[in-house]
Amino acid sequence: MSKVLIIGGSRGIGAEAVRLFRNAGHEVVFTYHKSELDADALRQETGATPVRCDVKYSDSVRIAVDKVVSVLGQIDVLICNAAIADFSLINEIKESRWEEIIDTDLNGVFYCVRYVLPSMISRKSGCIITVGSMWGQVGSSCEVAYSAAKAGVIGLTKALAKEVGPSGIRVNCVSPGMIDTDMNASVDEASVKAIAEDTPLCRTGSPGEVAKTMLFLASDDASFITGQVIGVNGGLII
Ligand code: NDP
Repeated sequence: MSKVLIIGGSRGIGAEAVRLFRNAGHEVVFTYHKSELDADALRQETGATPVRCDVKYSDSVRIAVDKVVSVLGQIDVLICNAAIADFSLINEIKESRWEEIIDTDLNGVFYCVRYVLPSMISRKSGCIITVGSMWGQVGSSCEVAYSAAKAGVIGLTKALAKEVGPSGIRVNCVSPGMIDTDMNASVDEASVKAIAEDTPLCRTGSPGEVAKTMLFLASDDASFITGQVIGVNGGLII
């Protein structure tokens, strides 16, 4: 049984990961930002512990990690799942919104890693899973900020895997394709249908399919896997 911290566990893929890791017998703390009611419902459903955290701010992450360590004792598995998306033309996105996306989607991963890593290094053991996006791999028109942040997450993952591998820590990135969550609520039906038609497996994905990949990467079955970007995208990008 591992002690698992899931950042951004209140909804969507993160909430499925909370359920899956709990069902597999792991001890889980997850963070939420705005969705307090969803977080409380998930606590009641799974027995996992919610902690509030805004990943945009280093201090908020530091305080949350301290609370998590007081609950779990230590963190064996860190899953950096929190992110926001934005659909704007590059000429129309406000600088403040650009910064919010980079702060949440990229800097947030840095803060989480920075506060969790030291104790993993001293124990010479740990597993970090970041969450990228196929758009971080191939770029998405009208999602330049999100694509840039997610490309950064992929670079961070690969570099960190090299840096901390000798300390017995594995770092991998799960890179979803189009998954049915609130993040895509504003995408119109025709666009979702077109993406599904372009996907070799002819459909969009479910949050559970991404969460199962996280569970695998956190397990001993993935003991020789590090620095990898694992696409969960139905073959939409190959
Ligand atoms: P959702 O929008 O459903 O959930 C996002 C989660 O991130 C929520 O738990 C939310 O918390 C949390 N979060 C957002 N902003 C912050 C913040 N500032 N501080 C802390 N937590 C925050 O997204 P998905 O489940 O769809 O996405 C999960 C991951 O998968 C993301 O990294 C996303 O980029 C990636 N992904 C998703 C794809 C998709 O098609 N859905 C495709 C490719 C990648 P709260 O609600 O409490 O504010």
